[in-house]
Amino acid sequence: IDPRAARTADPTAPAAAPAAGRPALEIAALHKSFGATTVLSGIDLAVAPSELVFVLGPSGSGKSTMLRCCNRLEEPDSGTILLKGTPVTGAGVNLNQIRQRIGMVFQAFNLYPHLTALKNVTLALRKVRGLSRAEAEARAVEALTQVGLADKAGNHPAALSGGQQQRVAIARALALEPEVMLFDEPTSALDPELVGDVLAVMRDMKSAGMTMLVVSHEMKFAQEAADRVIFMDGGSIVEQGPPERIFGAPEHERTRAFLSRVT
Ligand code: ADP
Ligand code: MG
Repeated sequence: IDPRAARTADPTAPAAAPAAGRPALEIAALHKSFGATTVLSGIDLAVAPSELVFVLGPSGSGKSTMLRCCNRLEEPDSGTILLKGTPVTGAGVNLNQIRQRIGMVFQAFNLYPHLTALKNVTLALRKVRGLSRAEAEARAVEALTQVGLADKAGNHPAALSGGQQQRVAIARALALEPEVMLFDEPTSALDPELVGDVLAVMRDMKSAGMTMLVVSHEMKFAQEAADRVIFMDGGSIVEQGPPERIFGAPEHERTRAFLSRVT
């Protein structure tokens, strides 16, 4: 007997093989307009588990809108988005659950100024997850430790550098144990000397196997850490490939023009 056949016949076996080939995040035919302005004109993008996809493109090309559609901060006009096979788009989606499973970090850290770093991280754990104070604090300390800020748990945002505030924002997302993390220009608001600490945290997350979709202008980070670079222009993916190919031998004129302006 073929052992594989025996396993298939076993009624207690999982219905499908573990999702080896299934993307963590799958965007298909995503369209979005604001009034008469078409911002996304058919985005198709599948991000594999543990993949870091780096998104490049000129201002206004739709990068933020694409990310925001992934956790429904923007409502797509059409198209589908799946998170490990679970629909993110369409009616009847549990947005609270989706926003825990897809964490997002913005250029502006959006911390509550009147709360300590610890409280900023525990808030969603208490309110959305319904954890007890002790459970929430234990998990928040763990997340702050992960971003190197265990010793700053009691600080208010005003007593933290911009880079530290952004790391608190990352910890806040991580504490919810997301399956995918979206970053929208996470270092663009930081003084240059603070950028490295945030990128180091992102590198650690990548090493730990996090699936990441990162909009950024940090080309050096892309070259070191990205599995794939996407170049967007005018609401479309113009070109994509491994960083060495995109940076070393871009195929499209628009990619070449953009890279010559920014590098
Ligand atoms: P990027 O992040 O690549 O700079 P965005 O996704 O922020 O691009 O924006 C793409 C286009 O959509 C821009 O022309 C922008 O002005 C427009 N846009 C974004 N958000 C809105 C909105 N809420 N209302 C109207 N237009 C918007
Ligand atoms: Mg943007």
